[in-house]
Amino acid sequence: MKRVECEFEAEVLDAVFQGRWPEQAGEPLRAHAAQCEICRDVAAVAGAISESREALVAEAALPDASRVWRRSQLRARQEAVQAAGRPITAAQVIAFACAMGLLGAVFGATSTWFQGALGRMASFEAGAMLASASKLLMEHGAFVLSLVAAVFLVPAVFYVALGRE
Ligand SMILES: [Zn+2]
Repeated sequence: MKRVECEFEAEVLDAVFQGRWPEQAGEPLRAHAAQCEICRDVAAVAGAISESREALVAEAALPDASRVWRRSQLRARQEAVQAAGRPITAAQVIAFACAMGLLGAVFGATSTWFQGALGRMASFEAGAMLASASKLLMEHGAFVLSLVAAVFLVPAVFYVALGRE
């Protein structure tokens, strides 16, 4: 019949919980544990319990406030890491496309106006001058509208897109 208990079991247990196992447990007890399955198991299990108990004691020794503070610090750091790794959202892509489209419109309006201004300087005839001036005014109006849109709309679109996060 297999043995289920050992007379040295309690001694091994005491040694582990008092932090004497295995170095200061004494040679006879160590020699016995090397051969005794029960005492080996007791030492292993008690060792694991002792370690986790020490960890619990160390954690409990911290005052509540600093434990809470440390946890919030850890959480903030995790969230910062997650936010940095977050992929660009569809809203941000759309906002960027809108901004690029507006910039393109502004550039297009500007270059048309610029070409018109060059053409106006090239021809000094009064009639052509008048026609080109009215044409310029219309183009200039479009340019101003585009500029206003770019200055006020783009930040607004970005604000909405980012605010929706
Ligand atoms: Zn034993």
